[in-house]
Amino acid sequence: MAFSKEIRKYLVILLIIGWSIALLFFNQPPKRLYHDNQILMGTFWEVTSPSKEAGQIVLKEVARLDQLLSKYKEESEVSQLNRLGKLKVSADTFYIIKRSKEFYTASSGAFDITVSPLVSLWGFTSQKHYLPTEQEIKAALKLVGSDKIILHELDNVVEFRLPGMLIDLGAIAKGFALDCAVKKLREKNINNCLIYAGGQIYALGDKFGKPWKIAIQGKNKFEIGETLELKNKSASTSGNYEQFFIKDEKRYCHIINPLTGYPVDSRINSVTVIANDGLTADALSTILFVLGKEKSKEILKKFPNTQGKIF
Ligand code: FAD
Ligand code: MG
Repeated sequence: MAFSKEIRKYLVILLIIGWSIALLFFNQPPKRLYHDNQILMGTFWEVTSPSKEAGQIVLKEVARLDQLLSKYKEESEVSQLNRLGKLKVSADTFYIIKRSKEFYTASSGAFDITVSPLVSLWGFTSQKHYLPTEQEIKAALKLVGSDKIILHELDNVVEFRLPGMLIDLGAIAKGFALDCAVKKLREKNINNCLIYAGGQIYALGDKFGKPWKIAIQGKNKFEIGETLELKNKSASTSGNYEQFFIKDEKRYCHIINPLTGYPVDSRINSVTVIANDGLTADALSTILFVLGKEKSKEILKKFPNTQGKIF
């Protein structure tokens, strides 16, 4: 009698364990990902997350920054600054211009947001491509140099030293927008999300316990250079195959060497930089593209926790 009581006790315990395991298994939420996308900053943005709200949060924040930082929007702070040459700006605009100046110094001028007159001269702003004359390039070069941007820290005023100067945040603002969007997600306790914006990516947290897997471009638009596994990291690619024109069998791409005034003409097809934040990855991928393979190693040493892949 005592023996069968023991057995019954064990059977009940086993049953309870079995039920608990079954309950745990069936109560798992389905592994669902939500996808949201929108064209912002002239680029296709895609947000992937197990959280339904992530897309809205990211796209709203990027749209806000697009209104501030776009040279393509007449009323943006950047366009107003470009028209007036001096402007009191928001903390976000001030911050990104300040960081851009730091990258200008760190890259000895290879990264320069005042390259805008040259970008326009070559027709990359209007998409009406044009081969300028030597004189036209020389004239535009006089307006180039981020050392000619004065930052008044006390009241967030940005001032150009020369009339006619223009800035273009095309090589850094998407990365900055990624960081701002990630900050918004974290504030809402959303810790897993993949944000894709043209050549920029931020992988927040993971995908159901495993790092986000992304493919980066290789030598051309159709070739995968490498597959990366990222967690709380950003990857940015700058290449010569997204925006370019060909004239007399020569290819001219949209990334300009601010020291010569000519589109970068190196053997590099694309560069991907991996960093802890989007702004650094974005700026550095453009810098590495301008500087080329050898000088790239030196510049990466200045930025801890960054990695460059050149194709
Ligand atoms: P990156 O290598 O990251 O940047 C290259 C771009 O940076 C060039 O296109 C040029 O603008 C600039 N640049 C070139 N040489 C240098 C250099 N040496 N140093 C610093 N900068 C350099 N495009 C549209 O067609 N319509 C839009 O409405 C539009 N809105 C935009 C709004 C914002 C806020 C931003 C940031 C960009 C916008 N763009 C728009 C631009 C478009 O998305 C660009 O193609 C993009 O910024 C280029 O980025 P990338 O990642 O391909 O190349
Ligand atoms: Mg860039």
